[in-house]
Amino acid sequence: MDLAHHTGSRSVLVAALGRELPAERLVIDPDVLDAISHDDAEWAPTGPAAVGVRARSEAEVQHVVRTCAELGVPVVPRGAGTGLSGGANAVGGCVILDLSPMNQILEIDQDNLLAVVQPGVINADLKAAAAEVGLWYPPDPASAPWSTIGGNVATNAGGLCCLKYGVTRDYVLGLRAVVGGPVAYGEAVRLGRRTNKGVAGLDLVSLFVGSEGTLGVVTEVTLRLRPARAGVPRTVVGAFADLVTSGEAVAQITRRGLTPAALELLDRTCLEAVEDWKHLGIEADANALLLARVDTPGDSGAAEAADVAAAMRDSGALWAEQSTDDAEAEALFEARRLAYPALERLGPVLTEDVCVPRSRVPAMLEQVNQIGARHGLRIATIAHAGDGNLHPLLVTPAGDDGARLEAQAAFEELLDAAIALGGTVTGEHGVGILKRDGMRRELDPGSIALQSAVRRALDPREIFNPGKG
Ligand SMILES: Cc1cc2nc3c(=O)[nH]c(=O)nc-3n(C[C@H](O)[C@H](O)[C@H](O)COP(=O)(O)OP(=O)(O)OC[C@H]3O[C@@H](n4cnc5c(N)ncnc54)[C@H](O)[C@@H]3O)c2cc1C
Repeated sequence: MDLAHHTGSRSVLVAALGRELPAERLVIDPDVLDAISHDDAEWAPTGPAAVGVRARSEAEVQHVVRTCAELGVPVVPRGAGTGLSGGANAVGGCVILDLSPMNQILEIDQDNLLAVVQPGVINADLKAAAAEVGLWYPPDPASAPWSTIGGNVATNAGGLCCLKYGVTRDYVLGLRAVVGGPVAYGEAVRLGRRTNKGVAGLDLVSLFVGSEGTLGVVTEVTLRLRPARAGVPRTVVGAFADLVTSGEAVAQITRRGLTPAALELLDRTCLEAVEDWKHLGIEADANALLLARVDTPGDSGAAEAADVAAAMRDSGALWAEQSTDDAEAEALFEARRLAYPALERLGPVLTEDVCVPRSRVPAMLEQVNQIGARHGLRIATIAHAGDGNLHPLLVTPAGDDGARLEAQAAFEELLDAAIALGGTVTGEHGVGILKRDGMRRELDPGSIALQSAVRRALDPREIFNPGKG
């Protein structure tokens, strides 16, 4: 969008914000402002922000939104900045609204299996607090130690165990948000409920979940919890000579009606990168590994693990077996979680997030191979394979502009390949900036028109994270 109509000059903006905010909430230092003006996405454009605000309360968020609406200044909400699509990147002249200081767990209701949290709570901190009282918050993006619940809600984050337990949206019962549009800009609204069921009115909670900060700023979230799982989960490891055969095993596991709690893929490049960095003692003796976690307790779990291993072997695994070494199994899942930061040490990494129907995983992995070869690129692959959600990681040498251009072209081709296979350009990271063109190619024009109408209705002044999603 054209940001020229955003008229507030920086000093007017800072003075207006300062009327109700203590000076220490404002981020003006250029280095600090720069550090909070982008997320973790490679090569996603970032405009210069005018100022940052580290909000500590909903009232402060209201003041920021009111001020920005009056001055026509964009507001870019931000959690931990671990996003991989440029969603939290600054747009020219904006306020970066950092919600990470709003990090209180307000309530854990053991009787009703729910938690009420501020948006800046770190996912892993909520998990730990729930575990202390025998409860479990399942959504587990690999960024759980760093990413915030607000960011998870805004991106509808997935993770390793969504295969069996669902994504963030499945756990959001209600939320509070500072909005604009039909109500006054800066008003706080309560959406959703605390009950297990409820169908009063349109499902605005679902609309906000995954809206990437484009409809308002989430200031509180009510989340469903589950009882903690009993027992130690089983891990099944399958080794494969190539990526495509590992994809055949994923399709076979689905075909046989098996639903492990997690079914993750990582290739040799990822394993070696993690080993070089963390020295976990993992030997990469295959080009691709599938890691399945089975958490069904007792004999049924043992049978399920055996069936998963058999499906892997029948699909051409070099070997597949249940791990008898808990430490080794943990190290493998740790390697899966650390693969992305490990690869980042090798050079700039452009991260894909395509998702295809599970039977098409082998075909998508074949496309990854072909597109990588065509562009002379090193593509490492990790995947929430059981969901068909693949993260081909396009690793380039630092400072090599030719490789960057090849990677950017390959990125778009991978999006097209996923669309052609009946998939989507983003399974869990969000559209942000990087997948806007791909989204236009994927979605029905009518769907885009409806989405634009919703955004116009809820944010006629176009101040909430413009140019994203
Ligand atoms: C190592 C690594 C592993 C990852 N693994 C996964 C994974 O397994 N699954 C997965 O889904 N993602 C994964 N991600 C991506 C990222 O962690 C998620 O998208 C996460 O949900 C972002 O949370 P955040 O707090 O960092 O949000 P940010 O990056 O700060 O923001 C993300 C988006 O949410 C918006 N936003 C943030 N807070 C609010 C709020 N309070 N109100 C309104 N909008 C808001 C921002 O404007 C932006 O559009 C991974 C990232 C890394 C670096």
